[in-house]
Amino acid sequence: MLFDRDGTLVHDVPYNGDPDRVRPVDGAREALDRLRAAGLRLGVVTNQSGLARGHFSAADLARVNARIDELLGPFDTWQICPHDDPADSDADAPGGPGGRAGCRCRKPAPGLVIDAARALGTVPGRCVVVGDIGRDMTAAGAAGAAGVLVPTPATRPEEIAAAPAVAGDLRGAADLILRRQRLVGPARATRRSRPRAVLVARPDSAGDVLVTGPAIRAVAAGADRVVMLCGPRGRAAAELLPGVDEIVEWSLPWIDPDPAAVDREQVGRLTDRLAATGVQEAVLFTSFHQSALPLALVLRMAGVARIAAISDDYPGSLLDVRHRVPLGIPEPERALSLAAAAGFALPPGDEPVLRLRTGPGAAGRPYVVVHPGSSVPARACPPVRCEQIVQALAGAGHRVLVTGGPGERELCARVAGTAGIDLGGRTALPDLVRIIAGAGALVVGNTGPAHIAAAVGTPVVSLFAPTVSFGQWGPYRVPWVRLGDATAPAGTPGPPPAR
Ligand SMILES: [Zn+2]
Repeated sequence: MLFDRDGTLVHDVPYNGDPDRVRPVDGAREALDRLRAAGLRLGVVTNQSGLARGHFSAADLARVNARIDELLGPFDTWQICPHDDPADSDADAPGGPGGRAGCRCRKPAPGLVIDAARALGTVPGRCVVVGDIGRDMTAAGAAGAAGVLVPTPATRPEEIAAAPAVAGDLRGAADLILRRQRLVGPARATRRSRPRAVLVARPDSAGDVLVTGPAIRAVAAGADRVVMLCGPRGRAAAELLPGVDEIVEWSLPWIDPDPAAVDREQVGRLTDRLAATGVQEAVLFTSFHQSALPLALVLRMAGVARIAAISDDYPGSLLDVRHRVPLGIPEPERALSLAAAAGFALPPGDEPVLRLRTGPGAAGRPYVVVHPGSSVPARACPPVRCEQIVQALAGAGHRVLVTGGPGERELCARVAGTAGIDLGGRTALPDLVRIIAGAGALVVGNTGPAHIAAAVGTPVVSLFAPTVSFGQWGPYRVPWVRLGDATAPAGTPGPPPAR
């Protein structure tokens, strides 16, 4: 865990060069010691432009940091940016150019986070940055680390709205991290016998299927065979998931957004199909707004002996493992926590990142992909804005590919214009995966391809509509930048284009 210094660990005293003026924030010592006791290593990532500006000397800075170490340490690494940034006020603005004039380390640039991870012998994806302002969260995202914002009275409301996670104080931040770690920890995943065949279900969209990937790999590690039940919209993504041995595609009328009527004959056919898979167990993955119980009932009818699911609704005897998860946990960890509760953990060495049955993309990353569509229209960026993004990228010398599904040909043609290369409707999912894997970055809203990018390690420029939690649905463990107004009410158009 990497902590910002001023305003996070200690009260902010602008350009402080005096160790006697160091005052830890309330509860800092106790929160840090709890994290150390849990086996986490701690570091500090701090901008100290006062050095370059002559507000204090290197010796003053060393004495102040030594005092902090004495009061709150020891820290396993200190990463300090001593550089000045002439564009400081610009760089702090939401959506601002971010460190354009300066070094690679001054937050919001990701250098300090990357260097801290390296110093700790790990990768940014396994780090959490805790800070009090937006640029701490931007630096975390740009490095591919998680972020927890602990606001002070100086934190702006838009910074709070855009943060992937927010805690009231350092104690709360420690609680959040320890709870997330406990939820997916292998300690929960103990069981007596190895099942021969397990059904995993994720019956909605491609993106939902992709974020469930780590949990499905956990089940696959503990079972001889994994049968996946998916919907028609998630089928192509399910085929790309490692660990899936067999796929059953079915449109479930209690999940599908355009549902067919429920009738006895259909439910009977589904029951027979599921019974024919021969599974003894099932782990039912759902989104927070879906119910696992109708499928649990069908699986009981099909003779499945052990069923696990997340359910706030009372399940009676439908579930053997009734799991509950607080809101705001990243979706891949939410699913992993259900797998763990059912007795399945990722084997050591399998990091809980998204992953596909495909190699990495071409080296060089000579182009950028803009994906203007969205599986949920309310989440899509306005086409005119996507068009401007393509023009701006092309104007800056980038090759821009525009991608979209068969229903998005017109949208893609418009967005590509003459500046971009229009691939709308011309990519089956495996092609899209290859294209995204080879890209320098993907510009996309909150929809399936964002999770493809996370799965192939391509950085995401996220045009994330604030209809659901960014911390839960944002790109997972891959470098990201979030653009747009996180305080905008859902379903209203954004401000007119700036230019
Ligand atoms: Zn620097």
